[in-house]
Amino acid sequence: MRRCPYCKVEITGDLYKCPLCQSKLMGTVEEPYFPKLEAQKKRSIIYKLQLFFVWVVLIVGIGLDFMVGIRLPSYPTLHWSVLLAMWLVTFEFGIMRQFKPGTGSAGKVTTLTLFTIALWCVTAYYFGFMQVTLDIAVPSALAAVIITNFILVMIDKNGNTMSYLLSALFLGVVPSVIQFFVRDSMPLAWSICTMISVVLFAGALIFKGKAVIAEFQKRFHV
Ligand SMILES: [Zn+2]
Repeated sequence: MRRCPYCKVEITGDLYKCPLCQSKLMGTVEEPYFPKLEAQKKRSIIYKLQLFFVWVVLIVGIGLDFMVGIRLPSYPTLHWSVLLAMWLVTFEFGIMRQFKPGTGSAGKVTTLTLFTIALWCVTAYYFGFMQVTLDIAVPSALAAVIITNFILVMIDKNGNTMSYLLSALFLGVVPSVIQFFVRDSMPLAWSICTMISVVLFAGALIFKGKAVIAEFQKRFHV
């Protein structure tokens, strides 16, 4: 038992300082009260290193762009460091997700891909390759997420993988339906994405029907 000479409280475990007044505790150290998280400590060093690296790239980028005035040759008015900053923040968000306990693989894959798609669209808008992005890159990325989530539903027992699969399936179908009516035709990649969505929705119903129904009941309170 350890003892604070000022607060007159007794504290079990191996605390070094008094939790009330932060003074040094007296007495013998006991078995630690909380388990030591060695793995998390090690990871946090890598996390800090990459965070520092990202920070350096960010500041140097903004400095070169806004203060030194270094621009991309073909895009003299484009503030590329703003785009760079957006990508780095998303990268950081992704890293944080990886380290956050309690987030399933499906959640990590889905949120990271959706953020990347959004950023890719902004970048494409500024660099002028929006059309190829919307017609090919976005549906391809969505199809990849859908397939990944489907595999995760099949092998992953825990987490809310099913809700991510159903959300991704929804995202895979709805833009195609809208495009079908608005544009009168669908780009090939969207057609493939829609077909994958429908096929894998059928697959989910066949293999994990109960889980699909349970998910719908949970979401729509039916
Ligand atoms: Zn104290």
